[in-house]
Amino acid sequence: MSGFDYDLFVIGAGSGGVRAGRIAARYGAKVAVAEEYRVGGTCVIRGCVPKKLFVYASKFAEEFEDAVGFGWASEKVSFDWASLVENKDREIDRLNKAYIRNLEAAGAELIQERATVADPHTVLLASGRKLTALYILVATGATPFVPRHLPGHELAITSNEAFHLERLPSRIVIVGGGYIAVEFAGIFSGLGVETVLVCRGEQILRGFDDDIRNHLAGEMKKKGIEIRTQANVASIERSGDGVRVGLNDGARFGAGQVMFATGRIPNVLGLGLENAGVELTPHMAVKVDSLSRSSVPSIYAVGDVTNRVNLTPVAIREGHAFADTVFGGKEVKVDHALIPTAVFSQPEIGTVGLTEVQARQGYRAVDIYKTSFRPMKHTLSGRDERMLMKLVVDGESDRVLGCHICGPDAGEMAQLLGIVVRMGAKKSDFDATMAVHPTAAEELVTLREKWTG
Ligand code: FAD
Repeated sequence: MSGFDYDLFVIGAGSGGVRAGRIAARYGAKVAVAEEYRVGGTCVIRGCVPKKLFVYASKFAEEFEDAVGFGWASEKVSFDWASLVENKDREIDRLNKAYIRNLEAAGAELIQERATVADPHTVLLASGRKLTALYILVATGATPFVPRHLPGHELAITSNEAFHLERLPSRIVIVGGGYIAVEFAGIFSGLGVETVLVCRGEQILRGFDDDIRNHLAGEMKKKGIEIRTQANVASIERSGDGVRVGLNDGARFGAGQVMFATGRIPNVLGLGLENAGVELTPHMAVKVDSLSRSSVPSIYAVGDVTNRVNLTPVAIREGHAFADTVFGGKEVKVDHALIPTAVFSQPEIGTVGLTEVQARQGYRAVDIYKTSFRPMKHTLSGRDERMLMKLVVDGESDRVLGCHICGPDAGEMAQLLGIVVRMGAKKSDFDATMAVHPTAAEELVTLREKWTG
């Protein structure tokens, strides 16, 4: 230590900040971590974890229906939103405490207040205290974007509030076409809420493989979700105890709630980064190099605030790599290529690697293998749902460039496919692998016919 209060001051105790703080402390650094809301950050408190718990909750309605085909007679079942929220909150409290314990066990000091940057080595706490550090790590995450130009925007909720609604509306309009929008559409619809998804693009889930996007949209519609593409919300007005949502095409909906899932913006507002001369990207994210260092040598940034790949495991990896590099004496760069990912839509998506469109842009010959089938469970449940699997292969080298799945357990499959694709597996490796029978995943190793369209 050289005249500073701390070796490292982390702003934000979310996925990236907590990992960085813990690892740096383990290397012997004197670390403080400031958090203005709840330790654990978006993922634990109001993102991945509560979202997945809600997804589980919302699937039971179909499970009860499907069970009948297997001989079960379900007597009258009912759902209580308040107990779901209460049980979810208990689990989030448990995780929040575990995060606090882990930080403290690592020897990091937790400061439960807002911190801003005063200069390249000084942070200012909300209480007015100033603290200095050799390094500052900005790990403040992102926040839901709300289109404030829109009349009535203040009547809408975002994912933050969706986790704490006092009661379920009978109808909801969700604005957005990204993964958070489609996940919440599945959640609300599964819980019996009439759900309308309003999306600006020509299809939901921009950036995903087109076949997967179309397949998911079709399956969501079968579940009764109304998807209105190429539509924009023009106005929101209060109506009774709900809202009235007007679209630019003249359509109007009455609903109990309207929710914006219209993207997320890096948390840089009021953070004082300009006091230190930290440069931002045109998207208002902290601009960093491959070692997560900002334009100011003593200030680093990891996670969503850098708007690279906005996922929890990425923020964690970036936080860890930062600590290894700055305090562990080994330079570690995070590889942002071939990140497997899941969308907990209903049905689920699991994907890794290039979409067909991306592959055709970068490769001379692209082979497509795909299959759509009825999952075995639905032969008895009678449910009209299909699963889609698609492999994108370099026709010259036979290397598998992308795998895209929409159907039950697709997220679990994506984790393993992520290893395989990263290792550079060829289609012939898939073919040579014995099937696991009877599973849905076996279709991945039994795809023989090239798709000719
Ligand atoms: P965060 O986890 O957001 O942590 C930032 C922390 O900084 C917050 O706790 C915040 O309160 C605090 N903070 C901000 N400013 C200050 C300040 N000035 N002083 C003190 N503290 C401050 N990712 C996945 O991988 N899988 C998923 O299934 C998934 N689902 C999601 C679902 C939803 C609804 C949302 C919103 C996100 C989801 N994500 C998912 C994304 C994931 O949550 C983020 O990528 C991840 O949390 C980013 O971690 P982070 O450390 O960058 O920021």
